[in-house]
Amino acid sequence: MKRARTPAILARLAITAAAIASIASIAPGVAWAQRARRSVECSGCIGNYYYFDQNAASGAHRDWNCGTSSYDGHRGSDWSLTGNLGAIDAGNNIVAVAAGTVVTTNDGAFDRCTSCPSSGTCGTSVGFGYGNYVRIDHGTRSVIYAHMRMGSVRVRVGDRVTCGQVIGQIASSGCSTGAHLHTEFRAVGGTSTTAYDPYEGMCSPTRPSVWTMQNAYRTLPGTTCDGSTPPPMCPSGTFAIWTCNAARTARVRCIDGNVMTEACPAGCMVRAVGTDDVCNPPASMCSAGVTAEWACNSARTARVRCNAGRDETQPCPYGCAVNAGEDTCNAAPMCPTGVTAEWACSTDGSLRRRCVMGAVQSESCANGCEMRAGDDVCRAGQQTDAGIVPPADASAMDTGVAIGSDAGAMDGGPSSADATAARDSGASADARRADAGPGAIDGGCGCRMISRTHNRDALRPLALAAVALALASRRRRAAR
Ligand SMILES: [Zn+2]
Repeated sequence: MKRARTPAILARLAITAAAIASIASIAPGVAWAQRARRSVECSGCIGNYYYFDQNAASGAHRDWNCGTSSYDGHRGSDWSLTGNLGAIDAGNNIVAVAAGTVVTTNDGAFDRCTSCPSSGTCGTSVGFGYGNYVRIDHGTRSVIYAHMRMGSVRVRVGDRVTCGQVIGQIASSGCSTGAHLHTEFRAVGGTSTTAYDPYEGMCSPTRPSVWTMQNAYRTLPGTTCDGSTPPPMCPSGTFAIWTCNAARTARVRCIDGNVMTEACPAGCMVRAVGTDDVCNPPASMCSAGVTAEWACNSARTARVRCNAGRDETQPCPYGCAVNAGEDTCNAAPMCPTGVTAEWACSTDGSLRRRCVMGAVQSESCANGCEMRAGDDVCRAGQQTDAGIVPPADASAMDTGVAIGSDAGAMDGGPSSADATAARDSGASADARRADAGPGAIDGGCGCRMISRTHNRDALRPLALAAVALALASRRRRAAR
């Protein structure tokens, strides 16, 4: 939606106000804000109280103390002048609740109104219904002092005022049915929708009270001023929420005098009332067909998406899976427990095994297998020892699942507390392998590391001892 410059700025004022007010109305004490003294000078000139309406329902009202001293939809605190219209001429001073800067004033309107018509010298058309009024920004709060006596306004826009400084007098101008002061707390720059209750009470969300001394229900707050130093003012045209600059090349915000600017190379987008304006995302340079969702490439070797205007590619070494939602890379296949990427001799030394990316590789060692610090190796050359014969069927050896378990048990050795544990698990695997059949036994027998005979049972203690030695040796090397 296009908006003309000036209305946009006005809208922005409202936006900012709404944003700040929504924060302030939840917890006015969070942001810096001076607490307030009472907005009248007198002690005994007020005879009645009509507080902020805390009942959101139309046609009902409730004040901060859960009483009914309010009226439906009231956005401020009314303190009624004792003696009503007849007491106006006595001059009852209205004072600033804290130090601040005057941002709006209106004076010259009739000040003895008793009704609120939509036009004429009284009513909603006179100073937005506030009649003769002054608006002052007090740090993060803005306060409207309304329905003032004609000709009583004593400050001008831009004036810095001190806490307790007289700014006008009580009367009944604008939308008013009797002499009273309407004090309305808002966020800086906020509209009436941002107004909040200064009183803390059972039926008010304000914490803590905005007043320095709130005092009892239906009495005036105290006259003590907040002694804290106000923060630096923000430059005019800057707000607490992010706002595009006029050229839409950046967005700016200001909090407690600190101006922040964020460049928007792709332009700045004005957003809905009450929300931060945002920088446009950079122009997309993604390839055709590449969306914000991860999608497999045609070869299923990677997945691609459009991220912040650029193609983003993630390789899928194990393939890419097409899903209903985003496509995903397949997980790496798992290696069997105990089979590592390093070549490792089987317990009987007939072969060595390793696992690469889930695939188990096995290599028979015709002359036995030798343990090394890194990869274990098959012994080279044909031994001349008469007791050693080549395996009858190397492939039979390679396929032995039980042998695979051996390798696992052996690999587990170095990390286990002692070699006995490794040997124990190896022994149980051996037992299984013995059941594998004559072929397996014959094969295994032929390439035993310290073999003197085909007798497997006779060799086992020797083989186990050799493994234990090798493991111990490997552990010592590893420990070094
Ligand atoms: Zn009022």
